[in-house]
Amino acid sequence: MDVKLNLEHIRAEIKQACANVNRDPNEITIIGVTKYVTIERTKELIDAGIENIGENRVEEMTKKYSQIDDEAKWHFIGTLQSRKVKDVIHKIDTIHSLDRLSIAKQIQSRATKQIDCFVQVNVSGEGSKHGLAPDEVIPFIEDLEGYEHVRVIGLMTMAPEIKDEQLLRRTFQKLATLRDTVKSKQLSYAPCESLSMGMSNDYTIAIEEGATHIRIGSKLVGTE
Ligand SMILES: *Cc1c(COP(=O)(O)O)cnc(C)c1O
Repeated sequence: MDVKLNLEHIRAEIKQACANVNRDPNEITIIGVTKYVTIERTKELIDAGIENIGENRVEEMTKKYSQIDDEAKWHFIGTLQSRKVKDVIHKIDTIHSLDRLSIAKQIQSRATKQIDCFVQVNVSGEGSKHGLAPDEVIPFIEDLEGYEHVRVIGLMTMAPEIKDEQLLRRTFQKLATLRDTVKSKQLSYAPCESLSMGMSNDYTIAIEEGATHIRIGSKLVGTE
């Protein structure tokens, strides 16, 4: 497992996907997802030049954070229980999984600054996935008015684990369209310019459909 080589390969693919649709590769933020791997591997990734690290569990993130701390920006990408918000709120830069007012309430009362949040959407409607149904997104974001510590920078989704490229594209397109709708409302607390979508198996498609933040684990750092 050579993290540097993996990163080079991924960067080349990002460049190609951007070229395909006339985008600037600098618009893409790679979030290195380290949930499967050790602190040592995580440090290797940071040394290779990745500064945005994604974790999906509070305990694991806290453990890594305590040893790596301010060398990285931390993204919380997993389901967050509202009672655990307090354990991560002073460590993270971004939450990708805001989907309930109970989380927003905790952010509001615990944070000491504005926290960048993605609202998670279950575009495909799969029962196993977390996130709001597409038609719940706008009412939810309107309800966030007054939570000064919550800033909605974009929408996030996890695509279904399928190989059907057209279906994946449609999933990403739906999220992009919904993002445009939220953005057009020009809510001061919800600029909603970003799209967190694309993982190891589908990030090139996600980029072609407008992703700004891709969350890559296995293809970058392996799975053990
Ligand atoms: C694990 C995980 C990823 C990364 O998955 P890979 O397929 O290993 O790239 C991205 N996003 C979320 C929310 C995850 O839980």
